[in-house]
Amino acid sequence: MTEILPGVHQVEGVDPSPDFSTHVYLLKDPGSTWTLVDTGLPGSETAIAAYLKRHSIAPSSVARILLTHLHRDHTGALAAVAGLTKAKTFAHWLEAAYIACDPPYEGPGSPPAEPFHVTERLKDGDSIDGFGGLVAYHTPGHTPGHTAYYQPDRKILFSGDLFFGNGKELTLTPKEYTHDGPTAIVSARRVATLGAESLLTYHGGPFPKGAGPLVHGLVKRL
Ligand SMILES: [Zn+2]
Repeated sequence: MTEILPGVHQVEGVDPSPDFSTHVYLLKDPGSTWTLVDTGLPGSETAIAAYLKRHSIAPSSVARILLTHLHRDHTGALAAVAGLTKAKTFAHWLEAAYIACDPPYEGPGSPPAEPFHVTERLKDGDSIDGFGGLVAYHTPGHTPGHTAYYQPDRKILFSGDLFFGNGKELTLTPKEYTHDGPTAIVSARRVATLGAESLLTYHGGPFPKGAGPLVHGLVKRL
């Protein structure tokens, strides 16, 4: 079991390679349900289903799938995992259009593998009933509708691809994968004011403790 914080599981077996890690998080809700954050590359449904089985979690108890953004390494297994769990699916309203490939996304990074229509369209500041209460923060830049999810009581930020752990330090996600670099800087400065103590990145990291100085150090360098 990879429980990196109480109730926060990092699903094993979804990394495409040792030097390109992808972190799919499975969160225990206060009741008997679970919340999944992002779904990995196409094919990751096998590792996600195996993880659920290994921990005796019924697929139908995964009540929500939250998407940080459209890129294929986050949405690749979305259709398969949504089919397996029958979970509600959440994305920012802008990103939801690109995840549905309507219109097709033509920015940097891989587009979704297939169109998918999420069931819940979020806007900045929306509350989500999962993991004891999450807040959606629209953090555009990496993609237009990129969204981070924050648990304010426990100060845990699921930052998607806003930040990037490169093994040595925390950075913004490299420019070649980013739609609008200056906008990503504005988003980073905004979430730095949250005072997150845990920064759960998607690539590299995560940083379960002591995230505040890391984020503030990065923001100062921008
Ligand atoms: Zn991305």
